[in-house]
Amino acid sequence: MQRILILLSVILLLSSPACAAVKVVATLPWIGSLAKEIGGDKVDVTTLVKVSQDPHSIEAKPSMIAATRRADILMYNGLDLEIGYLPILMESARNPVINPGNPGNFNCSAYVTALEIPTSTGRENGDVHPLGNPHYHLSPANMKKIAVGMGERLGKADPVHAGFYRGNAARFSTQVDRKMKEWQGSRLKGKQFVSQHRFFEYLAAEFGFSIVGYLEDKPGIPPGSAHVQSLIAGMVKQKPHAILSTSYHDQKPARFVSSKTGVRTVTVPHDVGAGGSRDWFWLMDAVIASLE
Ligand SMILES: [Zn+2]
Repeated sequence: MQRILILLSVILLLSSPACAAVKVVATLPWIGSLAKEIGGDKVDVTTLVKVSQDPHSIEAKPSMIAATRRADILMYNGLDLEIGYLPILMESARNPVINPGNPGNFNCSAYVTALEIPTSTGRENGDVHPLGNPHYHLSPANMKKIAVGMGERLGKADPVHAGFYRGNAARFSTQVDRKMKEWQGSRLKGKQFVSQHRFFEYLAAEFGFSIVGYLEDKPGIPPGSAHVQSLIAGMVKQKPHAILSTSYHDQKPARFVSSKTGVRTVTVPHDVGAGGSRDWFWLMDAVIASLE
């Protein structure tokens, strides 16, 4: 009898809400990876976007709606990078906890200082960066702030383990500081690159290199021939170190410019999973190695 009672209380304990994992839905691979790092075995993470996909042009799918419907927290990049699918997911999921302003809505960009915020309401940044440059995840300074914010938010969703999440966020920050010493020794300072897309601005600002030209005239707009010709003329004089693109980009424009200028192209890992990276630190190591 006593054994049955013990067994029953163990079953009750295991099935109580305090032991249920927090269901996190993350849009991009780096967000899902960070959620796993901060949440450990207390979270169950579903990531919507694959590393092979262009994060600017994702379409909402029924499987994504189903995952969003079950989510306790929706974590996303923000700065309108997910404008093409996130509003559809939120509306179709009918899960009020993940709506803006509610505790299950975690906008990572709320924790960062955005670059390239437009000075007018026009489309000066093209169509894909309307609120500023959304590719802040290659910035160690920003990632530390997001990790701390994520730890606090997970602690609100699951107060029993608040200390666990806060501890993991603090450990992540310390590891960023430790790795930063190593990364700052990289030979990126003063280098000049041409980039296909405005993807490396945060990295350039924190690591002291510059992007002197872009294949895209405006973010998300395919390069026109007049723009490419003037870029080539500038590159012949300036001799930048390389042309940077990412694996989801059409490589033809970069290869064409490379063939006309002799400047080599480098495909830079852009998110967790690219270049064999299994987490954000791995990604940063791979990004810096490819730029060096
Ligand atoms: Zn972009």
